[in-house]
Amino acid sequence: MEQGPSKGLHDVSLMSHDRRLSGRPRLCSDCGLCDSWLRPQMADTCLFVRNRMEEIEQRLHGRRRNPGDEMRFGIYREQAIMRMRRPVAGAQWTGMITTLAARLLERGEVEAVILTGTNPGTIFEPLPVLARTVEEVRACKGNKPCLSPNLGLLDQVRESGIRRLAVVGTGCQVQVLRQAQEQLGLERLDIIGIPCSDNVTYPDQQFFLNTISSSPGTVIHYEFMQDFSLWLHHEDGHRERVNYIDFPMDKLQGIFPSACLSCFDYPNALSDLTIGYLGAPLGWQWVLARTERGAQLLDLLRPDLESRPVSSAGDRTRGMPRFIQMLAKRPAKPPKLIRQMIAFLQRHRGPRGLEFARTIIEMKLLRNYTYVHDKFPQLEAKIVPYHVYEATKPYAAEYAATFGRVPGEGVEQA
Ligand SMILES: Cc1cc2nc3c(=O)[nH]c(=O)nc-3n(C[C@H](O)[C@H](O)[C@H](O)COP(=O)(O)OP(=O)(O)OC[C@H]3O[C@@H](n4cnc5c(N)ncnc54)[C@H](O)[C@@H]3O)c2cc1C
Ligand code: SF4
Ligand code: SF4
Repeated sequence: MEQGPSKGLHDVSLMSHDRRLSGRPRLCSDCGLCDSWLRPQMADTCLFVRNRMEEIEQRLHGRRRNPGDEMRFGIYREQAIMRMRRPVAGAQWTGMITTLAARLLERGEVEAVILTGTNPGTIFEPLPVLARTVEEVRACKGNKPCLSPNLGLLDQVRESGIRRLAVVGTGCQVQVLRQAQEQLGLERLDIIGIPCSDNVTYPDQQFFLNTISSSPGTVIHYEFMQDFSLWLHHEDGHRERVNYIDFPMDKLQGIFPSACLSCFDYPNALSDLTIGYLGAPLGWQWVLARTERGAQLLDLLRPDLESRPVSSAGDRTRGMPRFIQMLAKRPAKPPKLIRQMIAFLQRHRGPRGLEFARTIIEMKLLRNYTYVHDKFPQLEAKIVPYHVYEATKPYAAEYAATFGRVPGEGVEQA
C-alpha cells in the first residue's frame, strides 16, 4: 500500500509521533542538538523557541542587514556565480562543497568535517557523518534531501577531542550551532551553509518521489531547477522533468514539516560561506562569502573555479499579487493546455538569475510568515525575525488587500 504523507492537510507538527522527538518544542527540524550533550541548552539555543538571527548577525558582522538584497540573502561581502572547472562526478551540482571540505582536511586546517552521508542500502536516507579523511568527505557528495540530525555528532566531536571543525549544514543547523558555538570550546569552526527550504522527513521524501516520478525506484539524483521544473535523473541515464505547475499539490501539501514552514533562513545567512544555486544560471553555483573566514574559504577553492558575472532578468513583482491571493485560497489546478502555457512563460519570460532567487525567497518568506501567523500566533514575536517584515514591505498593500493586515502588524519583537 502506498505510504501517505505523515500529516494531513494543514496539520501542525509533523513529527510529534516520533518517540525520539518527545519533549521537544512543537516545532523541531531535528537539527540534532537535542541528541547531544547540549540538549539541556535547547531553550537558549533552538531557533524555534527564539530566533536569534539578528543578534548573531550583530556578533558576526557588527551590524544589521542593509536595505535591498541583504534583507533577502543575508549579509555578505562577496557574491559570485561560479562552478568547478572539473566537476566532481556524482556531486549535487559541480562539487564545490565536497572539494572545499576535502581541501580543509588535506591542508590540516580542520581535523574533521560534519557532513551528511547516505544510510547504506538506500539512495537518499541521510546519515550524519563525522569525516576525518578525504575519502569519507567524498563519500558524502550529493544531496540527501531530508531532515538530518547532524548536530548529534557534537558528542563525538567532544569525545574525540577535536578542536578544529568544519560543518556543512542547513540554515536551522547553522543557527543552532552558532548559538552553541561558545560552549563547544573549539579553536576553529568553519561553517559552510547550503540554502534550504521545504525539507522533509525521509518517509515523506519517499512519498514525494512515489507521487511525482513515473519510476521512483530508479531515481538517483534530483534537483528543483531554476527553470521552474524538477529534474530527476534515473539510474539508466535518462532524465525526467516535471514542471512545478504540474505538481499534484493536493497530495503533497501534508509533507512539509511545520518547522520548515516556520523557517526564515532559506539562504543560510549565518554561515561563513553559502554555496547553492538559486541565484545562478542553470549549471552554475551561487556563492555568498559572508564573514572574513568565508572569504578565506572561497580563496582556498578559487584556483579550481571558473566564474561569470552575476546576472538578473525579469520582474518578480508582477506575479506577487497573484501569489499572495493564492496563499489565501489555493486555486484549482488549471487544465493541461493552460499549465503548458504557464510553464513556457515561466521558463522563457520568468525571473532569472538573482531575480529568480529574490522571487523564490520572498515567496517563501510570505508563505511561512502567513503559516506562523495562522498556526502559531503566540510564537510570531519570538520566531519571526525582523528581516521578514522588511523584505515583504513592498507587498504590504497587496497583502493587506487579501488578509486585512500587513505582515508584522501589532507584533512587538520579543
Ligand atoms: C534539503 C536541501 C535543500 C536544498 N535547497 C536548495 C535550494 O532551494 N536552493 C539552493 O540554491 N540550494 C539548495 N540546496 C543546496 C544545493 O542543492 C547543493 O547542495 C549545493 O549547491 C552544493 O552543491 P555541490 O555540488 O557543491 O555539493 P556537493 O559537493 O555534492 O556536496 C553536497 C553537500 O551537501 C551536504 N548535504 C547533503 N544532504 C544534506 C542534508 N539533508 N542536510 C545537510 N547537508 C546535506 C553533504 O554533506 C555534502 O557535503 C539544498 C540542499 C539540501 C540538502
Ligand atoms: S530544532 Fe534542534 S534544537 Fe530545536 S528542538 Fe529540534 S533538535 Fe532541538
Ligand atoms: S527548511 Fe529551514 S527548518 Fe527546514 S531543514 Fe531547511 S533550514 Fe532547517
